Amino acid sequence: MPLLLLALLAAFHTLAYAAQPPNVVIILADDLGYGDLGCYGHPTIKTPNLDQMAAEGMRFTQFYVAAEVCTPSRAALMTGRYPIRSGMTSYQYRVLRANSAGGLPASEITLAQAMKAQGYSTGMIGKWHLGVWTNNPEHHPLKHGFDFHFGLPHSNDMNPSPGNPPKAGANAEQNAAWWNAPLYRGYELIDPKADQTQLTHRYTEEAQKFITDNKRKPFFLYLAHTFPHTPLFASDHFKGKSTRGIYGDVVEELDWSVGQVLKTLKDQGLAENTLVVFTSDNGPWTLMGTETGGSAGLLRDGKGSTWEGGMRVPGIFWMPGKIRPSVTTNVAGTMDLFPTAIKLAGGTVPKDRPMDGVDLSSLLFNGEAIEREVYCYYRGEKLYAARLGAWKIHYVTQNGYNDKPVVHEQPWLYNIEVDPSENHEISASHPEIVARIVAAVEKHKATVVAAPSQLIEVVK
Ligand code: MG
Repeated sequence: MPLLLLALLAAFHTLAYAAQPPNVVIILADDLGYGDLGCYGHPTIKTPNLDQMAAEGMRFTQFYVAAEVCTPSRAALMTGRYPIRSGMTSYQYRVLRANSAGGLPASEITLAQAMKAQGYSTGMIGKWHLGVWTNNPEHHPLKHGFDFHFGLPHSNDMNPSPGNPPKAGANAEQNAAWWNAPLYRGYELIDPKADQTQLTHRYTEEAQKFITDNKRKPFFLYLAHTFPHTPLFASDHFKGKSTRGIYGDVVEELDWSVGQVLKTLKDQGLAENTLVVFTSDNGPWTLMGTETGGSAGLLRDGKGSTWEGGMRVPGIFWMPGKIRPSVTTNVAGTMDLFPTAIKLAGGTVPKDRPMDGVDLSSLLFNGEAIEREVYCYYRGEKLYAARLGAWKIHYVTQNGYNDKPVVHEQPWLYNIEVDPSENHEISASHPEIVARIVAAVEKHKATVVAAPSQLIEVVK
C-alpha cells in the first residue's frame, strides 16, 4: 500500500476515535506506598513506564484515598462518596472478609453504572473487595454496572488453605501452597487456586484484550491489581531482579503492566482520547516488615492509619495532547475520579445524594486550581483528622496497627505543606486555624448520615 494512503488511513482512524467521548482507564495498585515509585523518589525500585507516564502527564504530590484500608477506599472510588455514606466501612472490622455477607448496597450509584448510562462499555479486572458474590450474587461487579469481569473477589490472603498461615502475621511469606486465589471470569470460577505469579500477567492480557475489543465505542476500564498486597508473587521474568527484593520485583512487574496498557492504547490509536489514571488504594502495609511492606517515603506511618502515610498515595493522570506535562500540588483524591470521568463522558453526577468528589477537569485540561473544602480522614466510621488548605488537624491519632487511639481534646495541628512528615505539632500557636477547620468539619458532619455497616454480618 502506498505510504500516503497508509498515512491517510491512520489519520482517519485517529479522527474517527477522537470524535467519541474519551475512554477512561483507572489502574489501581493495592497497598502501594507514596514512596514506592521512581517518580516519587524511590531510589532502587525501577519504574520506567510509570516515570514516563508521569513525565508526559500530571503527577499529583498531594493525592488521597478516602480510607486507610482496602474496602472503604475502593467503595469511595467507585461511588465518589465517603464510605460512611454507603456503609462500606467499619472501625471494628475494617474490610470485608471471605465470609462477609455484606457488600456495596444496590442503592449506591457506581462509576461503572454512570458510565454505562452514557453508552460506555465497562470492564472490571482484578481485585474487587466490594462484596463476595459466592455469599451473595448481588455483590458481583456485573451487578454494579460492569459488562465484563475477570478477577478475584477479595485480597489474595483471604482464602488460605486449612491450617495456614501457621502463625499470626505470616502472610508476608511467599509460600504458594498456603494461599488460594479463586479466579473468576464473570460468575464462572475458572481457577480455584490461581498461580499468583501469573496474576499480573493475566490481568494485563485481559486489559489489553478489553481495550482492543472495545476500541470502536467508548469504554471505562477499572484495572485493580492484586499486588503489592502480601503475599507477594512475581513471574519468573521479574523474580529476583530488583535490588529492592521481592517487593521491588512485584512493583516492577506492575510497572511493566502499565507500560503494556499504554502501549496498547497507542497501538490502537486511542492514546489521545483516553484518560489513564494510576493510583493506589491505601498506603504501604509497613506491618509486613522491611522485605514485603512498602514505603510511604517521607510521610508518617502507612496503611491503616490516618497519618499521611496511610492515605496519601501516588496519583498520575495521562492523556497525551490534552493534559500538559506537569507536577501539581493541588489536593485531590480518588473520590474525584467519579465526577471527573462522568464529566468527560458527557453525563451529570447524581443530584439526589451528597457527593464528595470534585471534578478535576479544569485542573487537568486547563491547569486551573480547583476549589476544595475540607478533606476528611476517616478510620472506619470515626473521623480522625481533617485537612483544609495547607493545614491538618487530628482529633485522634493512632498508628495503623498494634496501637491504641489517643484522643486530643484540643485537636493537634500540622502545616503539612511545610511539614509533610507530621513532626511538629503547632496547635498552641494557631488556635484560630484549628477553630476554622473544626467549623469546616462540623459543616461536613451535618451532611453525613452514617449508613448501617456492611462489614459486620458474616455468612453462617
Ligand atoms: Mg489495600
